[in-house]
Amino acid sequence: MIIFKKVEDIQNYISKQKSNDKTIGFAPTMGALHAGHMSLIEFGKIESDILVASIFVNPTQFNDKSDFEKYPITIDADIELLEKNHCDVLFLPNVSEMYPDGMELKEHYNLGPVENLLEGAFRPGHFQGVCQVVERLLRIVTPHKLFMGQKDFQQVMVLRKMIELKKIDTNLIMLPIKRSDDGLALSSRNARLDKTNLNHALTIIQVLEKIKSSISKTSFETLKNEAEETLLKNGFEKIDYIELALQNDLTPLSNWNNEKPSIVLIAAWIGGVRLIDNILID
Ligand code: AMP
Repeated sequence: MIIFKKVEDIQNYISKQKSNDKTIGFAPTMGALHAGHMSLIEFGKIESDILVASIFVNPTQFNDKSDFEKYPITIDADIELLEKNHCDVLFLPNVSEMYPDGMELKEHYNLGPVENLLEGAFRPGHFQGVCQVVERLLRIVTPHKLFMGQKDFQQVMVLRKMIELKKIDTNLIMLPIKRSDDGLALSSRNARLDKTNLNHALTIIQVLEKIKSSISKTSFETLKNEAEETLLKNGFEKIDYIELALQNDLTPLSNWNNEKPSIVLIAAWIGGVRLIDNILID
């Protein structure tokens, strides 16, 4: 695997590859890599000639300073894992390389209602920061294909909008959530949970599955109340949201509509760590 730290160096490399008609795939990450990230690398390798991963913990998307400061950094293990999974290129910039003119947002992305729902309501400014960093990365890497996880479903929606607004020529491909054998959605933040809380964290997928299997017979309000109660009984401190929404634009639904694909999304706190997860209902 080739590691680039400088924008100019990776740009020279990419333009050489493109002049040889190679397709470029890209999986941006914030590091602390796990098998969820590797599922993007694995699929990306099949779908492109050159697979580029990036690791950059982007300060501008953290509305909570302590979340940023506690974000796990495991760079040596990350490099090892990427090499083991045959990633071709790692882009590993520092802050001044990513933001040579400073970190303040130069423009406001007009993302529409999706920006302020769900994650947006609880993490003000988060998606502006996500768009800022991903636009910069896309301008540098210029990938034909961009691989992202359904784990961050709303992020995928927001970035589709940004890509359309900024007329960026890339194909965003969303890949399913990779889970542990017992169903916990893999996440870099899981590393901050102790054994007991890791066990309790499984309650998230249990309540999501329960809602999915009952939604055609029981009102969403009843299922949501039950889910909240179950999470709070199983070690969760706080629930930011449990919402049912349309898959295509995240419009909130008060009840299931069997004609339109929907999704149930959860954000909840355990052991001082905020976890998110979701399940598609087609
Ligand atoms: P992050 O490092 O958390 O910014 O995530 C980088 C990319 O990996 C994003 O596209 C995430 O949606 C994706 N990702 C994170 N966790 C998982 C998972 N458990 N399964 C699949 N993709 C994931």
